Amino acid sequence: MKGGGGNDCILEQDESIKIGGWGTSMENSKNRKVLVIGSIPEFHELIGGSLQGQFEVMDASSESEGLAKARGERPDIILLGYVDPRGSSFRLHKKLREGWITKHIPQLIVDAHFPGQPQRAWTSQEAMQMDAEEYLMISPDDAGSVAESVKALKLLERIDTRLGEKANPLKEAILNPNIFCVTWEQIPGRGAFEIQQEHVFDNIRKAANLGKIHAISVTDNPGGNPAISTEMLCAEVKRVGTEPLVHLACRDKNRSQIESMLYGLAASGVRNILALTGDYPSAEGFEGKPKPVFDMDPVNVVRLVEAMNRGLEHHAMGKKVALAPTDLFVGVCVSPFKQLESELMAQYYKLKKKIEAGAKFIITQIGYDARKYHELMQWLRLNHFDIPVLVNVYILPYPTAKMMNSNKIPGCVVTDKLVSELAEEAKAPDKGKAGRLLRSAKLYAIAKGMGYAGAHIGGHGISPDMVEYIITKGEELSKDWEELVSEFDYPQPDGFYLFEKDPKIGLNTDVLAKRPSKSSVPLIYKLSRIAHVTLFEEKSRVFKMLRPIARWADVSPRAKAVLEFFEHMAKTVLFHCLNCGDCALFDVAFVCPMSQCPKSQRNGACGGSYQGWCEVYPDKQKCVWVQAYDRLKAYQEENSLEEYIVPPCNWELWQTSSWLNFYMGRDHTAKRLGIKPPS
Ligand code: SF4
Repeated sequence: MKGGGGNDCILEQDESIKIGGWGTSMENSKNRKVLVIGSIPEFHELIGGSLQGQFEVMDASSESEGLAKARGERPDIILLGYVDPRGSSFRLHKKLREGWITKHIPQLIVDAHFPGQPQRAWTSQEAMQMDAEEYLMISPDDAGSVAESVKALKLLERIDTRLGEKANPLKEAILNPNIFCVTWEQIPGRGAFEIQQEHVFDNIRKAANLGKIHAISVTDNPGGNPAISTEMLCAEVKRVGTEPLVHLACRDKNRSQIESMLYGLAASGVRNILALTGDYPSAEGFEGKPKPVFDMDPVNVVRLVEAMNRGLEHHAMGKKVALAPTDLFVGVCVSPFKQLESELMAQYYKLKKKIEAGAKFIITQIGYDARKYHELMQWLRLNHFDIPVLVNVYILPYPTAKMMNSNKIPGCVVTDKLVSELAEEAKAPDKGKAGRLLRSAKLYAIAKGMGYAGAHIGGHGISPDMVEYIITKGEELSKDWEELVSEFDYPQPDGFYLFEKDPKIGLNTDVLAKRPSKSSVPLIYKLSRIAHVTLFEEKSRVFKMLRPIARWADVSPRAKAVLEFFEHMAKTVLFHCLNCGDCALFDVAFVCPMSQCPKSQRNGACGGSYQGWCEVYPDKQKCVWVQAYDRLKAYQEENSLEEYIVPPCNWELWQTSSWLNFYMGRDHTAKRLGIKPPS
């Protein structure tokens, strides 16, 4: 893992995990494509030939072929020489620079004057108008031969430099085991012309000068409050010259809007995404609380990004079409700070799905318990997950700590002990500023020592010099990080830890702790299980008997209407059914995630539950995933909650009979189980 310390109690590295990280940092240059365009065969021999073996080299000899290959193959770099007839090179250069697909591809203009070539490639007036990354002149007169001139150009180095500029610095940093990556979170707020937004861009410019921050992240309607759009600001961050990390909350957008947003980001060269569930909408929307969307969850956003990176396949005019692949880099969040066993396990179950869906990095929720940070790393090792994690270093002032402590900022865990320490700290003349910065640096140091991949620094009113202090001090302290662990001993009352405690250092042993929580099996759950086995298991006799009836009912409007009516009545009374038609009751131990989870989470808990209560209904309704865990535990089936990914609800089935949809092979469960319509 990254960094790493000499802590005895850290789990022995498993042989199956690559010690030192999660793969190579730089993308293999042999996978990089270079398009060499020119009409003169010697040009290809010399230029293309000098790159063979280092890159995938493609050739084009005319304007139309060059344009077609640039659009179709999307090379990483273009080397443009003389193209017949005169004027074509200039025209092609303009088309490439202005083209939607090709405008971001770096161009190296190579002005090679070969013996026998009647005239130069372009006029001096054309040359003045060119807008390329580099202009290279091959002048055989100076160097004796064209081949020697090409050598003197140091083409490989030049291409490497340009590819480096095109690379994704955040991705490179996160994946490089020798770099401790730093991201800085910005909260630009509501409005279009606000002073807060000036501060954000001041920070971004100064951060770029610091040279220590690998990406600026921009929140997406934080706290469920409307704010200026993260994607628009991230495109601006990119223009300013810093790599952005887009927070993508599922709260306000349906799947099509998310897909649109991802296309827009990819096309503007914004590649880093943090997929989040999002806080529940606040009441601060225009004319009241907005409609919560939550059409997709982060697990399915990661699946979508992965599909887009492969080249999303879809149907258009009855034909299968594959889109050009994107180059998005997607991460997710997790909270190891949950108090109850059920809440914590629900977090890890969902994290497993996120990783299996294709998440490339993880950022933790806000918390200050070193043992919990250690637990997350142990859980990853135990499950053989080789994925980088960034610690959330939130610079915590006393007023915010009080709010987090009283659950006014869902998901952020600050214990009573920490609040009282901060209350003391706030009495200092600097109101505790030095103390909270030092605490942040210590957390940075501990995370680095534990093998975290980086730090995600956040907080209100943070200046670049504060961030720089945390980095510098954190680096300095990281050598002796184990000595700091005792300062981050903030267990929650009766808080559950996945591993037994190591009393020597205050972290975890590699022994899994007993899971003491009591199961809870309401009668409705017992009856639901019996009904399910009888009616919906393929091997059941009743299921086989009902299949032909289902087929008949499916084509009989009257029978269908009657069935839909009775199903809806029964399931409304028993499960508060919304009649979504793509029933997920079975996936959540017969607690309906569509009606009982305000965020419609079908793959696991959001990060907002508190002491087992739902984020949206504290002290009134238990989180559906807590209920599901407690039910399944009675049958020792709680681990089934991590077994498979549930797709987002198929709204084509809305207000139809989910029973019929299952029997006819239409809903997600039938598809997962391979149930085909009865013949
Ligand atoms: S039921 Fe659970 S997952 Fe759903 S909103 Fe509440 S806390 Fe989040």
